[in-house]
Amino acid sequence: MIISRNPYTGEEISKHQELSDTEIENCIQNAHTRFHLWKQTSFAERSNLMMKAAKELKDNSQEYAEAITKEMGKPITQAIAEIEKCAWVCEYYAENAATQLKDETIKTDAKKSYVSHEPLGVVLAVMPWNYPFWQVFRFAAPALMAGNVAILKHASNVMISAGNIQKVFEKAGFPKDCFQNLIVGSKKVENIIRNKRVKAVTLTGSGPAGSSVASIAGEEIKKSVLELGGSNALVIFKDANITKSVKTCVQARFQNTGQSCIAGKRLLLHKDIAEEFLDEFTKQVRELKSGDPMDKETFIGVMAKETLAEDLEDQVKDSVKKGAKIILGGKRDGAYFEPTILTEVKKGMPVFDEETFGPVISITEFKNDEEAIELVNSSNFGLGVSIFTEDENFAIKMVPKFEDGAVFVNELVKSDPRLPFGGTKISGYGRELSHHGIKEFINRKTVYFNKY
Ligand code: NAP
Repeated sequence: MIISRNPYTGEEISKHQELSDTEIENCIQNAHTRFHLWKQTSFAERSNLMMKAAKELKDNSQEYAEAITKEMGKPITQAIAEIEKCAWVCEYYAENAATQLKDETIKTDAKKSYVSHEPLGVVLAVMPWNYPFWQVFRFAAPALMAGNVAILKHASNVMISAGNIQKVFEKAGFPKDCFQNLIVGSKKVENIIRNKRVKAVTLTGSGPAGSSVASIAGEEIKKSVLELGGSNALVIFKDANITKSVKTCVQARFQNTGQSCIAGKRLLLHKDIAEEFLDEFTKQVRELKSGDPMDKETFIGVMAKETLAEDLEDQVKDSVKKGAKIILGGKRDGAYFEPTILTEVKKGMPVFDEETFGPVISITEFKNDEEAIELVNSSNFGLGVSIFTEDENFAIKMVPKFEDGAVFVNELVKSDPRLPFGGTKISGYGRELSHHGIKEFINRKTVYFNKY
């Protein structure tokens, strides 16, 4: 039995019976059967349905958002924003997929030669709880528009949202079995990947889960995409606009109660502006309103599970033992963790070396540009970095020096349907979103007509 529990109240909110192996097999067979019909539909038909999915999301954003808030503690205003962003990605691919996937002519000695983009078939998505709708939609919208069909294995604590996502596609009028939510725990994933009708897998989640899924997919020679953890740096250079960058950095670290892969987790401050920046930053973090996630005024809710808050507490305590100083917060009450600022953080401390998945930020000072670059790149993660400077030419020169999947200048790292999203190093491989994302689960077929 899979149980959803409200992390704010502790109350059990739903129980879900796991599918049996036979039921899973039937779902995959149905998906496979549907694929052969779905891939023949036109872009116009798919686009029409995807626009209806966007409308369904917008019309019922409150209902879907409330389920998210109850299941994983996200403040309600942020949950509504998440649903609206899902509508955006549906609209984006409804409008752009046909152009993105049109044949690509390549001049050769042939009469004509080109690349056509054809769907792969049934794609499995293994997804996390932190953005229970967004993570799924940013995969599903391009996958369905490309002519694939999707099966979802969602995180065990957000099964109501998982069911709601299937409901969105059903209410929009998508043919049965284009998108199916499988109620299964992670132990069932291996057999699903090994099923011969499943052609590819994408996982958004932790390193160990990604590594397991990718090695099984590797054994089966099946395509995989991994969107894993991050420990993004926020780098404040000496000439940064302090007022604007403080505001952005507070958002970057504390939205979604700090539970975001792309959150700015390591704040790197040039020593000449460190004191001024930190005074203003601490003031603004202290003002963040914690409370009932259902309250519209709440910015910091609870973490999704008490065990995750305990893990974060351990990382903070270990870092303090190694010399870090808590200048704000640091305490835990059940699944609630106070917004916390740690200074004097160095390499070798868990809050620097590991991913902190909650409302904790680490502060490290640097003396010059070389040291800042070294600190950013010393992380094993490589999702993204934000740099803050008033000098655009300097920023342009800095961009190639970072090893990450994204560099944002004077902005927090964020996902946008129009831009590719994904990491390097242990943050994963492959890209989601934009025209890059829609081509991940595609057979790029080379077509060649001889002249004779
Ligand atoms: P998680 O524990 O890895 O879970 C993610 C999904 O994988 C869940 O559906 C989980 O199922 C499943 N899973 C866990 N172990 C598995 C295994 N051995 N084999 C197959 N499936 C397995 O991660 P999480 O705690 O939900 O999410 C937090 C992590 O996700 C963080 O590291 C965060 O940075 C990362 N994340 C990355 C991105 C990105 O785009 N790069 C976005 C969001 C989150 P159960 O729930 O049933 O265990």
